[in-house]
Amino acid sequence: VDNRAAAEGGRHVRIAIIGTGFAGVGAAIRLRQTGYSDFVVFERAEDVGGVWRDNTYPGCACDVESHLYAFSFVPNPGWSRTHARQPEILAYLRDCAARFGVLPHVAFGHDVEDARYDESSHRWRLRTNRGIWTADIVVVGTGVLNEPAMPDLPGLETFSGVVFHSSRWDHRTELSGKHVVVIGNGASAVQFVPEIAPLVAALTIIQRSAAWVLPHRDRAITDRHMQVCARLPWVASVWRQWLYLRRELLVPVIRHALGGWALERVALRYLAQVVRDPDLRTRLTPTFRMGCKRILVSSRYLQTLPQRHVRVVTGPVREVRGQRVVTTDGVEHAADVLILATGFATTDLPIARRIHGRIGRTLRETWAGRPQAFQGTTVHGFPNLFLLLGPNTYLAHSSVLLMLERQIDLLLAALRYFEQHSVTAMEPRAETQADYVRRVDAASARTAWTAGGCMSWYLDDTGRNAVLWPGAVRGFRRATRFRPADYAFTRDSGTGAEPR
Ligand SMILES: Cc1cc2nc3c(=O)[nH]c(=O)nc-3n(C[C@H](O)[C@H](O)[C@H](O)COP(=O)(O)OP(=O)(O)OC[C@H]3O[C@@H](n4cnc5c(N)ncnc54)[C@H](O)[C@@H]3O)c2cc1C
Repeated sequence: VDNRAAAEGGRHVRIAIIGTGFAGVGAAIRLRQTGYSDFVVFERAEDVGGVWRDNTYPGCACDVESHLYAFSFVPNPGWSRTHARQPEILAYLRDCAARFGVLPHVAFGHDVEDARYDESSHRWRLRTNRGIWTADIVVVGTGVLNEPAMPDLPGLETFSGVVFHSSRWDHRTELSGKHVVVIGNGASAVQFVPEIAPLVAALTIIQRSAAWVLPHRDRAITDRHMQVCARLPWVASVWRQWLYLRRELLVPVIRHALGGWALERVALRYLAQVVRDPDLRTRLTPTFRMGCKRILVSSRYLQTLPQRHVRVVTGPVREVRGQRVVTTDGVEHAADVLILATGFATTDLPIARRIHGRIGRTLRETWAGRPQAFQGTTVHGFPNLFLLLGPNTYLAHSSVLLMLERQIDLLLAALRYFEQHSVTAMEPRAETQADYVRRVDAASARTAWTAGGCMSWYLDDTGRNAVLWPGAVRGFRRATRFRPADYAFTRDSGTGAEPR
């Protein structure tokens, strides 16, 4: 226990990680593998898993192939499906945390309420609900898709039925024979709607706009395939590489109007095959470019909608009145249960209000509605802070773990540099960060992601893409080399000195 931290009633560690989703667990494993042991991982919940612990709705699964949606340094030959379901992914993450000795480092039930950088000691002071800690380096792995976005529905508080968000599924509520209204038709809704439709008496799906849906290739993995992957790891690795390359090819397709147009034809043909009723088909035909919102994959969602007891309504909700949900056309929809599949607050992250940098301003104040970071990872004015899956690191076409692993490499490279050059503090230069963000913005301009004619969770308050990396993973790897010249350093001997 460090004396200074102890004086404040807390402990000091070299590195504090926040969160135990893929980001926090992945960083902790790599730190352990590199020989670090002086670190703590704060997790506000009582289990590891992040979104895979919290999302337990029926049908919850990844929509990228599991062999790609896993750490490259912990391959899992045992995936039972090409796209594993939530319990299997959660079990994988728990196993990773246990097997690689991460669990003893985790402080469960510790909510980081405030983190402040102290320039005189070059340390972060973290206030958790269970006490004060200090750390030289803070790694933020608090995720982007875990703060439910609650719609502002007039009268919601008067709703006399049961209401819950899809990411906080209420398993005590019996859906059989009930009138269920679902608000939203995004990636979660397309997974649970086909699961609950057979149970309920009536199902109304209220969508703001129709979504692009492509058929899903999910299938069970044969025992033989599993055995081959287990016995011959290089086969699994070639398989992963093939999945990676196939997804990389999607980038030029989505980026360019012609490729997007061709994919739209595939989706429209699929819709026409599945939905015969022209009126319903019109309601399910998107009015924006494919890729503008996350492309949904399901071979069961569209098939569910033409059933007699299922209704699809377009238009925002005007109000909730008693046990009815009223849409703007004045139509009232009876509801025993209201499921909010309204996604997550992605650009106004709670953690950004809690982190105070060099001059005391929070990340949120610094960003002023436009989250940005150098290499998606470090922020000028916030020394020794590493954001995992920070601004512009999510992917629309592939596994975000590929991006995450690159960021962890960046963290490890920085740590190595710290040790070799007696560095105590490091932050990106303002102009380097600004230049990087300019290049990201230029790459986002005129793509389906920013100019596709829709409002999506990729965009911040100003309409800037703050979430997605606007290109292939390969490009991110090129853009995220650790180059000391990009940073300002403080060394042990004093302040402001910059090693060459
Ligand atoms: C249903 C669903 C399906 C998805 N499918 C895919 C997919 O197929 N492919 C893909 O690439 N991505 C997918 N994603 C995206 C997913 O968000 C990422 O892949 C990844 O899991 C994010 O991991 P994370 O560790 O960054 O964040 P999270 O998993 O959100 O973990 C963050 C952790 O931080 C903790 N935490 C937050 N704030 C604090 C605090 N102040 N103090 C202490 N602890 C805190 C939380 O409790 C949580 O455990 C999916 C997301 C969802 C919700």
